[in-house]
Amino acid sequence: MSQGTPEPAAAAQHGTGHGRELPGRELAGALRAEAAERAAALTARGTTPHLAVVTATADESSAWYVRSIARSAEKAGLACTIADLGPEAPVARVHERLTELSADPTVHGIILQTPLPAGARLEGLASAIDPVKDVDGANPLSLGRLAAGLPAFAPATAEAVVALLDHYKIDPAGRHAVVVGRSTVVGKPVAHLLLDRNATVTVCHSRTVGLASTARTGDILVAAAGRPGLITPGHVRPGAVVIDVGTNPTPDGGLVGDVDPAVATTAAALTPVPGGVGPVTTALLLQHTVRAALTL
Ligand code: NAP
Repeated sequence: MSQGTPEPAAAAQHGTGHGRELPGRELAGALRAEAAERAAALTARGTTPHLAVVTATADESSAWYVRSIARSAEKAGLACTIADLGPEAPVARVHERLTELSADPTVHGIILQTPLPAGARLEGLASAIDPVKDVDGANPLSLGRLAAGLPAFAPATAEAVVALLDHYKIDPAGRHAVVVGRSTVVGKPVAHLLLDRNATVTVCHSRTVGLASTARTGDILVAAAGRPGLITPGHVRPGAVVIDVGTNPTPDGGLVGDVDPAVATTAAALTPVPGGVGPVTTALLLQHTVRAALTL
């Protein structure tokens, strides 16, 4: 196995968890470089891939995330437009802006940033994003196509989970993957992507009874609940691979995942927060935008 990461089932069998870290920066760098190369080739042919981010919130961490996407896009040679409609924007205005961008032939990828204005539902608004430009898989049609095994953009975070497993040569086929969280943004699409890769998948949520005992049956455990420290060593099968999707702000301005750091003593491998799923997510958004520009 590359990078010395143990096969989850084998490690579980022998109880040899040693908590190897699975950082995402190297993979993210490679994905960004590939996106930059393709963007340069497209630009040379007269089309610069163009990502638009629609935001309507005063949330500081969201604003930071949007700026970091724009910086990454521009560094990779993509154009990036931030359509900041402000926290008071009526839902109808957000819908209208998404419709305009969907019709704009110079725009190839569209992201609708959360949190949304009060009263808005992501699924409703995201329906206004043309599926061919839906680079973060927010339109319910994208999730439906994903579930049906048809080509579609997966939400970048969900795809980042599988991309990290691939990068570290951890094959989900035949493994039991437990996903904690069932949102349309992370949990459900991760479950579909893992099923597609022939894992046996269990999805847990806030009404799951006996979360720890179910989670402990996973060779691969994906934590996407948005609850800091939810996953403790008691939730983790010795030797399992743990992917921590959670990004929970701390009062001191830091970021922690859903997984208690003590899990490193039980798991064979664990993604860090920050520096795990996050950077891969951003890089995949660039890749998706370049792919959309190639097909439009
Ligand atoms: P979400 O919409 O709030 O969904 C959270 C899910 O976790 C729900 O399905 C919920 O169950 C479940 N859950 C909550 N508490 C639980 C508990 N105690 N036990 C079991 N399940 C529980 O959140 P999200 O948008 O999916 O995001 C999840 C996390 O990923 C957040 O920390 C978010 O910041 C992070 N995230 C990271 C990235 C990245 O790029 N790294 C991108 C997106 C999101 P119910 O359905 O029953 O309510």
